Amino acid sequence: MKTDILGVYIDDLILEEAVDAGTALLEEPGFHYVVTPNPEFILSARKDESFRSVLNQADLALPDGIGVVYAAKILGRPLKGRAPGVDFAQALMARMAQTGKSLYLLGAKPGVAEKAAENLRMAHPGLKICGTHDGYFTEDEPVVEAIRASGADVIFVCLGAPKQELWMEKNGPQTGARLTVGLGGCLDVFAGTVQRAPEGWQKAGLEWLYRLIKEPSRIGRMSRLPLILVDALGARLGGK
Ligand code: UDP
Repeated sequence: MKTDILGVYIDDLILEEAVDAGTALLEEPGFHYVVTPNPEFILSARKDESFRSVLNQADLALPDGIGVVYAAKILGRPLKGRAPGVDFAQALMARMAQTGKSLYLLGAKPGVAEKAAENLRMAHPGLKICGTHDGYFTEDEPVVEAIRASGADVIFVCLGAPKQELWMEKNGPQTGARLTVGLGGCLDVFAGTVQRAPEGWQKAGLEWLYRLIKEPSRIGRMSRLPLILVDALGARLGGK
C-alpha cells in the first residue's frame, strides 16, 4: 500500500523494512527498480508526466528527504519516517556481502565510481563489486553490454534525476540484473569527494542545510524545495 504524496506514490517503510523489501526483490525472478524521491523529484514529477510515471511504476519508492515526510504530514497521510537512499544502499551492501550477490556502480565523473568501489570493498568485506562505469556516456548499448557481461545482480545507477530513473526503466531489463537503485550523488559520497552531514544534523532533519552550506551553488536549485510544503498545504486545504 503506497502513500500518495502530490501524485507520487511512496512506500511507507522505515529503513530496515525497506532493506528487507529490497533483499526480497533480489530473490524474485525478473527485473526490479527502486527510486528514492526527495522534494525535488516530487516537484519535477508534478510537471513531468513521464518522470511521474517511472516513479510510480517502481517496485519500491523510498522517502529520501525530510521534506517528503513534512509534506506527508501536512497532507494528513503521515509517513513513519525517512529512508534515505544512501542509508538504504549501505544496508543493502551489508546484506549483499553476506549473500555473495554482486554489485555494479554506474555514474558520476570519471574515476569516482572506481574510488567508491575501493572504499566500499574496505567498508563491506566480502562485497563483490563486479564493475564500474562513469555517468558521462553517450550510448547506452556498450554500457548495458558491459553490465550484462559482468553478471551483476544489483546496479547502483547514479546519474541524477530524472536521467537515472529513465535509464533504469529503459535499460534495466537488458542488463540481466535483478535490482537497480537510483541513487543520485551517492557515488560521490562513497568516494569521499562529497561529505555527508554529521549524524546530529541528519537526526535533526537538517541534512539539506549542511549540503547547502557545503555547496552554496545549489541555492537556486534548493530555493524551490519549500514549495513542496506550500503545494501540500494547498492540496490539503483543497481537499485533495
Ligand atoms: N551525473 C552523471 N551523469 C550525468 C549527470 C550527472 O553521472 O549525465 C552524476 C553527477 O556526477 C553526480 C550525480 O549524477 O554524481 C547527481 O548528483 P546530484 O547532486 O544531482 O544528485 P542528488 O544527490 O541531488 O540526487
